[in-house]
Amino acid sequence: MNHPNEKVMRELIEYTAKKAGKQSQATGCFILKGNKIVSKAISSTQKSQDTTAHAEINAMRKLSKSRKNNSLKGYWVYSTQKPCPMCASAIVWSEADGVVYGWEGKKGWVDVYFKSLNLSNVVINSSRLKKVKMIGPFLESECLKIKGYKK
Ligand SMILES: [Zn+2]
Repeated sequence: MNHPNEKVMRELIEYTAKKAGKQSQATGCFILKGNKIVSKAISSTQKSQDTTAHAEINAMRKLSKSRKNNSLKGYWVYSTQKPCPMCASAIVWSEADGVVYGWEGKKGWVDVYFKSLNLSNVVINSSRLKKVKMIGPFLESECLKIKGYKK
């Protein structure tokens, strides 16, 4: 599969909006192996009272548990939002092949949040020998709608 894949991102947007329901600030994540979506999750920090329960981390945990392996070599991560420094670090550590993200994360409270954690994916990614391809923003306006923002 070539990345970014519009069909996958649109499916992720639909999945995230449906799963989130009335939950505000939801982010969604799919992990793909080839053409197959092998893990799906949304963020659940408030629901699970877990600061690390971002969509990317939740999807990675599910997949690692089912595979009994934490490597994402050969996998692609799709997120409705640019991965934060925590998630970007986890993705880089897992050696995923690439990331496609929806919106840049520069709107409303997230802008404040990113400024307070001012560590870019480029810096995190540059610290590893194996670079993770980062593609985005992709279908940003559609991804922003999940957050309730109008661009
Ligand atoms: Zn995150």
